[in-house]
Amino acid sequence: MKKKISVIVPCYNEEKALPYFYDEITKVSESMKDVDFEYLLIDDGSQDKTLEKIKSLAKKDKRVRYVSFSRNFGKEAAMYAGLEYSSGDYIVFMDADLQDPPSLLKEMYQTLVTEGYDSIGTRRVTRKGEPPIRSFFARCFYKLINKMSNIEMVDGARDYRLMTRQMANAILSLKEYNRYSKGLFSFVGFKTKWLEYENVKRVAGETKWSFWKLFKYAIEGIVAFTTLPLSIAAVLGILICILSFIYIVYIVITTLLFGNPVLGWPSMICILLFVSGIQLLCMGIIGQYLAKTYLETKKRPIYIVSETEKDAKTRQN
Ligand code: UDP
Ligand code: MG
Repeated sequence: MKKKISVIVPCYNEEKALPYFYDEITKVSESMKDVDFEYLLIDDGSQDKTLEKIKSLAKKDKRVRYVSFSRNFGKEAAMYAGLEYSSGDYIVFMDADLQDPPSLLKEMYQTLVTEGYDSIGTRRVTRKGEPPIRSFFARCFYKLINKMSNIEMVDGARDYRLMTRQMANAILSLKEYNRYSKGLFSFVGFKTKWLEYENVKRVAGETKWSFWKLFKYAIEGIVAFTTLPLSIAAVLGILICILSFIYIVYIVITTLLFGNPVLGWPSMICILLFVSGIQLLCMGIIGQYLAKTYLETKKRPIYIVSETEKDAKTRQN
């Protein structure tokens, strides 16, 4: 029996990129005659004509399936929905903007099948075409998170990844609300091979990731995969206690020896500001973890569907 690959494509305002994407992926599927395909397009609450575009593709091509969200839930939610709705033996995530070159899929599939891996990941070797400041912060982030957490996050790794059904099910079993896929992929383990490619520019439309959004995503990654910041907060607290104790001893002795207890007003202010700063910072760190816990305990759905290709069929009848 022919195996089937589910291509999961999160789409948020991608009306311009979609036609290019569809052309590319059909070319690829024609070159891979030994497998069946399903293109699972996840409309992540787009405000432009993305859903209409998807629907017209679904009408002319049976391989196109779609799930449309009731609002924008984010790429992570779209990827999760894709996994839940996919029916293939192999699953691949791909961006709609052709920054994850579909032409690489053939090589990925062959490597996976012939070399016996569970997953083929891809990473960009360069960050060409990206603002330098963004690359700088990205590098720092990967260094930091790899030091802090015992799960390996590969610098430059994309979400473009082909995996077996078994691995996909493992990821599906992680039902957390605050999702950080790069970490989840590492967490579930399995044998992964990395393919490298040069950074590609977006074919049309523009990126949805502002610097602020990326920053929040980075915090998400850290909070989701390590509790080290909490320990740092505790250690800082102990250190400051020790320092202040030494300082108290020092002040008592100098006052006894030289009198003049008023001396030291500026240093007092410095210490006060420093310590209250640290206190606020630590409270902030605790707050971050608490906030995530709060959201997890609510057990809200990761996404809400407004329609799928099945609805379109029943409406026609
Ligand atoms: N995306 C999404 N929901 C969002 C933001 C992005 O589904 O809230 C999709 C988007 O349509 C694209 C992919 O995620 O297919 C990657 O987004 P983008 O190209 O903007 O990110 P970049 O490549 O710049 O990191
Ligand atoms: Mg992109």
